[in-house]
Amino acid sequence: MSLTISNNQLSSLAANFGTPLYVYNADKITDQYNQLQKSFTEVNAKFFFACKSLTNINILKHIRSLGCNIDCSSINEAKLAALAGFEPANILYTSNGIAFEEIEETVAMGINVNIDSLSNLEKFGKKYGHDYPVGIRLQPNIMAGGNLKISTGHEKSKFGIPLEQLDNILALVQQYQINIAGLHVHTGSEIKDVSVFMQVADIFFDLVPLFPELVFIDLGGGFKVPYKENETGTDIPLLAQKVNETLQKLKDTYNKKFQVWFEPGKYLVSESGTFITSVNVIKNNKAATFVGINSGFNHLIRPMFYESYHKISNISNPDGPIKNYAVVGNICETDTFAWDRPLNEVREGDLLVFHNAGAYGFEMGSNYNSRFLPAQVMLKNGQVYLIRKRDVFEDLLRNQIEIDW
Ligand code: PLP
Repeated sequence: MSLTISNNQLSSLAANFGTPLYVYNADKITDQYNQLQKSFTEVNAKFFFACKSLTNINILKHIRSLGCNIDCSSINEAKLAALAGFEPANILYTSNGIAFEEIEETVAMGINVNIDSLSNLEKFGKKYGHDYPVGIRLQPNIMAGGNLKISTGHEKSKFGIPLEQLDNILALVQQYQINIAGLHVHTGSEIKDVSVFMQVADIFFDLVPLFPELVFIDLGGGFKVPYKENETGTDIPLLAQKVNETLQKLKDTYNKKFQVWFEPGKYLVSESGTFITSVNVIKNNKAATFVGINSGFNHLIRPMFYESYHKISNISNPDGPIKNYAVVGNICETDTFAWDRPLNEVREGDLLVFHNAGAYGFEMGSNYNSRFLPAQVMLKNGQVYLIRKRDVFEDLLRNQIEIDW
């Protein structure tokens, strides 16, 4: 198993498949999953890969082959999961502001569902009564996460049913005899602090007696992965230990064993991904030396969207003197990947590589400026697989209807 991809291999992939190019190392995904499993051996835990982070069917199949389950945020993700071979019992769907018809489709698929509004909970109760076990997503009033845009548990967040509305939830459960099988909270992404998960566990602790049919508590995803050189991620063994203590306490207090569910996205796939780009132009002005690459926020939006940091390496000149650059894309808005970033001297034609780009990279890509989406390549068992072709011109017109005026 090889957890890193050498610069030579990245250069040869760029030569073979062109740039911009997303490369995913399946071994790294396997290793991340194994780390989780190893840490949680004592705990009755189930992991659902938050596939919104990366949905290529080959990645999904690889993750299924590891024995991991899958978390979906749309009916189409759920259908992709089924296509990748996940059994309905291993698919979780956490809805967010969607029409009730979509929830009906998930029930028809027989998958696990978390509901996040009183309105849909009521419709669910009316239609299914006690027949279909369901989870509810709560909003715990906790501010956590790497950036406001990826913080989902605070009081101004649109996600989940606010805890203050617990009485309304209980009234609906009573009225329609809804079978509440799970409680769910996802406070946000990039949560390093284990105590945030434990705050949620404490909330659940008090709620448990109110829902006698409860089977699982779902602490969501959001484990932090290190993006910067000296950063550390969420302490997974510590999290496992604390969660184990909570489950034990629940058992001692309520004489009942619960399962804990997690929905990691970034943790499983972020570090597996590398994004290779080429330098188109170098431009100097008073403010900076701009490195213009053959990509933009249409391929990797995280820096522009929520100021995320990606380590960048110039693999064409790894021993060059260090200089400071602004790395920018070619989209017609401000399109900055990094400002004042020390890099080995950059020349036109060099390959600049973005690390830790597996999650929410390609997945949030678009054809903005009528640019092509990049190709995706997967490395597995020493083999290289092209898992998505680069767009071609016809793709830009696909689904457009040209009227003969
Ligand atoms: N679960 C839910 C409900 C989410 O909304 C998200 C991310 O948006 C995740 C899990 C995965 O988060 P992460 O990729 O940070 O683990």
